[in-house]
Amino acid sequence: MSKILFNKLSKKTGFIFRLDDIAPNMNWEMMSRVKNLFNKFDVKPILGVIPKNEDDDLKKYPLCNFDFWDEIKDLKKRGWEIAMHGYEHVYSIYSKKNDYMGYGGNSEFVGLPYEEQLKKLNLGAEIFKKNNLQVEIFFAPNHTFDINTVKACKSLGFKSIIDGYGLTPYYENEILFIPQLFYKLYSLPFGIQTIQIHLNYLTDEDYLNLEKFVEKNLKKIISYDEVCKTVSNTFPDKIIRVFIKKTLQLKRSII
Ligand SMILES: [Zn+2]
Repeated sequence: MSKILFNKLSKKTGFIFRLDDIAPNMNWEMMSRVKNLFNKFDVKPILGVIPKNEDDDLKKYPLCNFDFWDEIKDLKKRGWEIAMHGYEHVYSIYSKKNDYMGYGGNSEFVGLPYEEQLKKLNLGAEIFKKNNLQVEIFFAPNHTFDINTVKACKSLGFKSIIDGYGLTPYYENEILFIPQLFYKLYSLPFGIQTIQIHLNYLTDEDYLNLEKFVEKNLKKIISYDEVCKTVSNTFPDKIIRVFIKKTLQLKRSII
């Protein structure tokens, strides 16, 4: 990577957290710990809310003893960003890497006709509306979606999808992609990173690592609005996206 390229990238650094699988059944104890941590340091993550959770694995987690949607609205008032994470989070399809990002694996959407995807996404969006919440961010369960998912999101007014390769958000097919590279707490010296957190699987040790990471990198943690201001569709960024895509597809096991 040339020095010029590195200097250009180094000006854009930042992290945002994406919390996956937010639903009435989840690890609420860990949610409470992470919520206290984020509130203490004024960190504003993106909450990936499943509008109508029908995933049997996720339903094994404890059901909240308060109104779920009131809690989501309260978090929104605190400045947390709300995203729609699939519709029912049920994997009825297996994608053989014919999904948008070429990951492959279980999917709620890949390969379904446009009209069917539109219907599912609309039903999900209606649940948010019914609860007086507006959502403009989408991300699919297991990162698997296709061009019809993108088109359906666009037609329903979603503005961004959190997924993809790269070091800066970029527009593609008229929607903003905010890259999500790692599951682990990596700190790259450049670029905008989305850090994915599955609260349901977080151990005590993971929590302590998260706490240390937040304290150490506090200045670099930014909000969704700030992330959106770092959009870049320059030629060097496109080259970097292709490079990262190829590298991560080869080393998928490390992320
Ligand atoms: Zn999920």
